[in-house]
Amino acid sequence: MPVSATELPSRPEVDDRTALGPVRARAPVRLDRNENPWPPTSELLDSVVEQIRRATVGLHRYPDRTALALRVELTEYLTRQTGLLVDFRSVWVANGSSEVLQQLLLAFGGPGRILLGFAPSYRISRAAAAHTDTIYVECRPSPHFTLDIVAAVRAIAEHCPHVVFVDSPNNPTGLTLSHADLRRILDAAPGLVLVDEAYGEFSGGRSAVGLLHRYPTKLVVIRTMSKAFGIAGVRVGYLVAAPAMVDSIARVCLPYHMSTLNQAAAIAALRHHDGRDRPDLAMLVSERERVSNALRTKGFDVVPSDANFILFGRFPDSTVAWQGLLELGVLVRDVSVAHYLRASIGLPHDNDALLRAADILIDEGARSPTGRQ
Ligand code: PMP
Repeated sequence: MPVSATELPSRPEVDDRTALGPVRARAPVRLDRNENPWPPTSELLDSVVEQIRRATVGLHRYPDRTALALRVELTEYLTRQTGLLVDFRSVWVANGSSEVLQQLLLAFGGPGRILLGFAPSYRISRAAAAHTDTIYVECRPSPHFTLDIVAAVRAIAEHCPHVVFVDSPNNPTGLTLSHADLRRILDAAPGLVLVDEAYGEFSGGRSAVGLLHRYPTKLVVIRTMSKAFGIAGVRVGYLVAAPAMVDSIARVCLPYHMSTLNQAAAIAALRHHDGRDRPDLAMLVSERERVSNALRTKGFDVVPSDANFILFGRFPDSTVAWQGLLELGVLVRDVSVAHYLRASIGLPHDNDALLRAADILIDEGARSPTGRQ
């Protein structure tokens, strides 16, 4: 007999509002998940398959629970990418940066503890707070989505959060937080400050990793291989923080949480990209500018983005516009920001499809940007 979720003895703080977003709709053009749209090259696939083949020899054993080899590779990558010397004891890995965030809240959040976030931001931070019974407090944005640093510092003083979460570049706006503003948050925060740099490789901005030596008891930088590295399917995220922070997380982490196979695949991807130019990333940045400019020319408002996606509007009703784009074969993301939608930057022909669909929305009048009605 079918049973509905409401009949189960679930924890009251875990309900539909804390679920992890909708299951993906089907569409020919998928611009909803901020993935790297380039499929892996055959060279990368060969490296991954070879590395996994070697790892399979030990599949009867549990994985290396400290993921040492992967952490060492990530350390070398970070040092190259940020120009900052990083110690492998400062790096921790998990199955995607979402799991890193969950582990951080298991270690530093929990009942009676507060996570402060700034809207709009990566919605999983709110879900992870609910799942770990951490109290979530949200500070509203100032006009046009920029972080009002005075309000942010005031909110920190008022709520004394155990953990502050910021994503930079921000999801869904694509805006980067300046180091000056980040330092004001770090100075004001009584507890941890998590800086999610999932899109850091697209921004060309300075990484918060450079602030670790100043704030070793507060700062945690979270990153991922799902975006610029283009291996979202492998599930590897990581953090950089003081080694003592890494030790705290290891205490709440499930044993053998990272499979031998995803450790091997990630190592192969890191070695493969080592020292190579990344024309795919350069193309995404130039396509982002092309799409942003084209949408602006059509009358849309486009938030200037440092990531591989854009937030654009202003739609009279973003849910109606989302549906309209879907009917035209283009799946974007309704991120619950009134009048705006988020579109990932895809391959040039995907982006052309988005621009054509946007033209049709405008022609249909009811779904045009508000400025054009
Ligand atoms: N942080 C931000 C800001 C994101 O937008 C996303 C992906 N949507 C993630 C983290 C999740 O990355 P991962 O695939 O590593 O869990």
